[in-house]
Amino acid sequence: MRLSELKPGESAIIVKILGHGAFRKRVIEMGFVKGRKITSLMSAPLKDPVKYTLMGYEVSLRLSEANLVEIIPLADADKIDDISHLNVIDETDEFSKEYSGLRHTINVVLLGNPNCGKTSLFNIAAGTHEHVGNYSGVTVDAKKGKFEYGDYKFNIVDLPGTYSLSAYSPEELYVRRYLKEQIPDIIINVVDGSNLERNLYLTTELIDMDRSMVIALNMYDELNKSGTTLDYEMLGNMIGVPIVPTISTSGKGIEQLFEKVIEVYEGRNTTVRHIHVSLGSDIEQSVKVLKDEIKKDHQIEQQFSPRYLAIKLLEKDSEVDSLLRVSNEYNHLISLRDRELKRIELLRGEDVTSLIANQKYGFIAGALAETKTENENDVTRKTQMIDALVTNRLFGFPLFLLIMFVIFWATFEVGSYPMQWIESGVSYLASWVDNIMTPGPLKDLIKDGVIGGVGGVIVFLPNILILYFFISFMEDSGYMARAAFIMDKLMHRIGLHGKSFIPLVMGFGCNVPAIIATRSIESRSSRLITILINPFMSCSARLPIYVLLVSTFFREYAAIVFFAMYFLGIAIAVVTAKMLRRFHFKADETPFVMELPPYRLPSLNMSLSHTWGKGQQYLKKMGGIILFASIIVWALNYFPMHNEMAEHNVTRIEDEATINPQSDSYLEMMGKAINPVMEPLGFHWRASVAALAGLPAKEIVVSTMGVLYTDYSVDEVDNEANLSARITAPSPITGEPDFNHASALSFMVFILLYCPCIASITAIVKESESWKYGAFAVIYNTAVAWLAAFVVYQIASLF
Ligand code: GDP
Ligand code: MG
Repeated sequence: MRLSELKPGESAIIVKILGHGAFRKRVIEMGFVKGRKITSLMSAPLKDPVKYTLMGYEVSLRLSEANLVEIIPLADADKIDDISHLNVIDETDEFSKEYSGLRHTINVVLLGNPNCGKTSLFNIAAGTHEHVGNYSGVTVDAKKGKFEYGDYKFNIVDLPGTYSLSAYSPEELYVRRYLKEQIPDIIINVVDGSNLERNLYLTTELIDMDRSMVIALNMYDELNKSGTTLDYEMLGNMIGVPIVPTISTSGKGIEQLFEKVIEVYEGRNTTVRHIHVSLGSDIEQSVKVLKDEIKKDHQIEQQFSPRYLAIKLLEKDSEVDSLLRVSNEYNHLISLRDRELKRIELLRGEDVTSLIANQKYGFIAGALAETKTENENDVTRKTQMIDALVTNRLFGFPLFLLIMFVIFWATFEVGSYPMQWIESGVSYLASWVDNIMTPGPLKDLIKDGVIGGVGGVIVFLPNILILYFFISFMEDSGYMARAAFIMDKLMHRIGLHGKSFIPLVMGFGCNVPAIIATRSIESRSSRLITILINPFMSCSARLPIYVLLVSTFFREYAAIVFFAMYFLGIAIAVVTAKMLRRFHFKADETPFVMELPPYRLPSLNMSLSHTWGKGQQYLKKMGGIILFASIIVWALNYFPMHNEMAEHNVTRIEDEATINPQSDSYLEMMGKAINPVMEPLGFHWRASVAALAGLPAKEIVVSTMGVLYTDYSVDEVDNEANLSARITAPSPITGEPDFNHASALSFMVFILLYCPCIASITAIVKESESWKYGAFAVIYNTAVAWLAAFVVYQIASLF
């Protein structure tokens, strides 16, 4: 709880003081020390400022200042007067337990450039499996985690990557607002050791901010490998920030890092010192003028240090501008700023923003000149060599297609072996249930509903894991960024740029995180188009349908059909993007910088751990929505009448349409109701029902088929009861199988393109901030799916 929330007359114990160095120092000098008791007195009529008693004195604080003091309310406050010695007090006392709990909770944030290893560090510290990728803009949201180390509890937050703390990109704004509002106890500035010059720029801005901070010198392995040596202790002493070398991929140095964090938090670290990154006498003079002015108004200097605000003011930072607007001194400040700007520009003949940047880079170069010794950098050379081939104008694109083809081939072919093992496990389980249970609805529910439905989908787990393994490998190795680079020209043709490419490839895994990842695209129209075409990227939930139908009907040219499905999705996406650009969004030519991070051989461990994380998610889905949907589908198929077979046998000679509808299951009625619309696509009612059932999540399509085709059990003796055999078995009614080559193809096309799943629709609506785009996705995609499936069916039927 913050002191500002304390009601008049109530008392509390101070837990910690937040905010930047100079502010904290002043507040602490006023007597606001952790462990001290404080009582709120009556507040002024307008509630601001508030009076408090502290050690028998009266002090007044503004509400906004009181908001930076963390307290714990004390019901019977008179018990203790000063509990700064609380650490030795009897820990069984409820209050002291809570107090020391809060005292021993350290809130840290990870801050650094894109791609410096923040998320990897976060995962190691918090023991999670967050998405890691070797290109910028993977983390677009703050991720929170908790863990304990030593006597301390840590709340850790992984912020989006930023190069600086200006107000240019959404990420930068997000990070800065976070620092302003949440006020973490310690900032961990993650720095890419193999790219120090650029990474330390952000560090200089954090130094201006004057917050408590520790540097994680990450990628220390890369730094060493390149033969460079860095005297990081000396560098730390020079800039007044402790530096700990870390390797986030293996976890080396992470413990030492948090040791340092604790040291800094407890004020025991001797390296910590506030320095000024010198901006040269001309600019420093202006900074001083503005700083002194800002200091006059305590209201505005709380979250950010006056020096930081003064510098940002000179850079004409729009957010700082609006932050200062609340001040009475605002107009005066702005006129001062303009005067200073004019003075400097006249003097130096250059604009102040680039002067400041040059000064900062000069500072970094100077600091590194003393602490770093370079060696021939063979990592760069290797990178250049690979790049020459991979981004080659001639070979780059075919190579990319080849890689994608290999990925889909492996997903299908390599995946088919473990798939068979799981399949026989599932059918073994089914026949076991068959043997031990007495016939009746319960047995049918377990065997047909649960095992038929969930078992039908779970066999595809290996394929999905393989696909995710490759995607994560491409991201980690740095290839994905190259792919985006090669694709840039092509993407421009459809009115997008290379940056849109990565979310699209991510869509092959799952469209939901892919849609969220579009946040790294600055241009709104490009972002919206990328969001809207993303569902055409065939996600892994659609994979089971292809694997099932391709292995059943197109065994001989499996990889080609497989690849063609993905390709069709891409083609429709391209056409859609072109149309959207043409008819809905105006052209936009925002230039962009695309970084090419150095190649890294991702550790097998890490790729496997990401893959496993996805596997767990998949299994959770199995036990949740898929199980639930399977049971519903089973019940709808089972009731109201279950002597379906007997009925059918009697009426077998008659045309199917003349069967008394009363004898149908609910599902059959539903299927037959929508079937007139689907019939031109070659769908049998079971196919229509499966497509309908797939609306919540596309995995349900196959699980539904698993439930629907349980009556079709082929000779159970030879244990060939797998789904593939069941869907090719002739229907007991028509004597013909429900699927043939043509309808299997049109079914796959329909499932590929039709209405996105509910999670994707939600993501579209949320990210586009408009339900209209969600509605568009539903209607447009379904219409396109119908048309495409129709064309495919009609053409394929000719053969
Ligand atoms: P973020 O963008 O800052 O969150 O960075 P990520 O955690 O996504 O990591 C970017 C890439 O760097 C991934 O491919 C990681 O595997 C890799 N990486 C992270 N830390 C290290 C490290 O200490 N050493 C090496 N060699 N690679 C690392
Ligand atoms: Mg990240």
